[in-house]
Amino acid sequence: MPPVVHVSRHPLILHNLATLRDVRTDPPEFRRMVRDLAQLLFYEATADLRLSPGTVRTPLAECPVQRVAERVGLVPILRAGLGMAEAMLEMLPSAQVWHLGLYRDHETARPVTYYSKLPDRPHMDLAVVVDPMLATGGSAVAALDILKKSGVCRAAFVGLIAAPEGVRALHEAHADVPVYLAALDSHLDEHKYIVPGLGDAGDRQFATM
Ligand code: URA
Repeated sequence: MPPVVHVSRHPLILHNLATLRDVRTDPPEFRRMVRDLAQLLFYEATADLRLSPGTVRTPLAECPVQRVAERVGLVPILRAGLGMAEAMLEMLPSAQVWHLGLYRDHETARPVTYYSKLPDRPHMDLAVVVDPMLATGGSAVAALDILKKSGVCRAAFVGLIAAPEGVRALHEAHADVPVYLAALDSHLDEHKYIVPGLGDAGDRQFATM
């Protein structure tokens, strides 16, 4: 795998992933797992955010502190990315959220944008594209194409589970974009589902099975 692909080995991630994958996990528990995993992966993906120094007064004394100095944009791909983006927003409430709706045209097999809430000029230091399943990579590549065209210079992708096909496609199109994952699975099936995966991440979050 390319060096910019980080597949977490953190015990808490692996523990939550077991529940997430389990077919017996109901939507409320599934959403909790998505939330916890998204926060743990966001923590890893933001490890090199630039800080600016300051001071605060504690009840005892002046104390040097550091605060995040970079502007972060969260870009959930609708609809499955919503739960992850909300969880990340809890950790960094100052982040902007740019919703992006993409579907796959059956005839051309190309991703089509049906909803985009990107600012005209996104003045961001880091855009984090969020989608739980990196399957073919089509949506992630399209999202990053759109972001770069609108002037975003630095981006990362955070997903829960990927197929090698998706990682390859993303790396070929956007080699500069680091990818943070909880798991890298075996392959895609004939319906483009990740195997063993977890099924449909949108359906399992929103109880539309
Ligand atoms: N999207 C999903 O929700 N699951 C997959 O396995 C692939 C794409």
